[in-house]
Amino acid sequence: MQDKGVALVTGANQGIGLQIAKDLAAHGFTVLVGSRNFENGETAAKSIGAAAHAVQLDVTDKGSISAAADRIRKDFGRLDVLVNNAAISNTSKLSGQSVEEYARLTRPSNVSLDEMRAVWETNVFGVLAVYQAMLPLLREAPAARIVNVSSGVGSLTQNANPAYAYRSNFGPVYPASKTALNAVTLAMAIELEATGIKVNAVSPGFTKTNVNNYAGRETVEEGAREAVRVALLGPDGPTGMFTRWENEIIAW
Ligand code: NAP
Repeated sequence: MQDKGVALVTGANQGIGLQIAKDLAAHGFTVLVGSRNFENGETAAKSIGAAAHAVQLDVTDKGSISAAADRIRKDFGRLDVLVNNAAISNTSKLSGQSVEEYARLTRPSNVSLDEMRAVWETNVFGVLAVYQAMLPLLREAPAARIVNVSSGVGSLTQNANPAYAYRSNFGPVYPASKTALNAVTLAMAIELEATGIKVNAVSPGFTKTNVNNYAGRETVEEGAREAVRVALLGPDGPTGMFTRWENEIIAW
């Protein structure tokens, strides 16, 4: 298999991130398995094979992010693909609720601002912090790609439509964190338009993982496939898009 370069996937020790890492390794990348717990990252990397290496990376910890960037430069010398996949749907204080119950407890009128800040810290500011730290390496790559793993539940256009099935669950914590991530994605794409670095947001669909207590319908293989497709886009591929699959565009 031809070496395609180096890909970093955040939150790759389990779920969709682990599957994205597996798939990118199968496509010939050296894959860096970002994990806030290094041992969990090592276990995940071993399950992928020799092309995978664990990198300690907590996206809410500045020191961890800059140490990861330093290690990537020193040990691998390049970064071609960044998949911002790590996210949380709630904090441990409110975990274990159904999606509907969680939505009821986190309306604009009653949401805990601490809960909202904690989720946005990972899902929005964490992505931006990792972007800033990794951008110097990505700019040096011949054709870098950035994929932000978002969610259709963050689409303002969909939620503004009274017929949208998940509309009653739209709230300031997880759904709006993905709306903010979409805005940040578009800003990154605009910033990098002239460089050839493509930045896109993807929605995995409702996938059976820890984030929804395994209530999803899709397998992790199905959940990972759009992020992988967009990570592999050629020079004529789009930038600044929000997609579920090729030609399946989600309105912002
Ligand atoms: P998951 O199995 O819970 O995986 C989330 C990953 O993010 C875990 O590896 C977790 O690490 C990591 N993470 C959380 N906080 C972190 C931090 N501060 N620093 C670094 N890593 C952190 O959930 P998933 O479903 O695979 O989620 C992957 C992505 O898909 C997320 O962006 C999610 O919003 C998105 N998504 C999922 C669905 C779905 O139905 N599953 C639908 C739409 C979008 P730990 O193992 O240490 O907790």
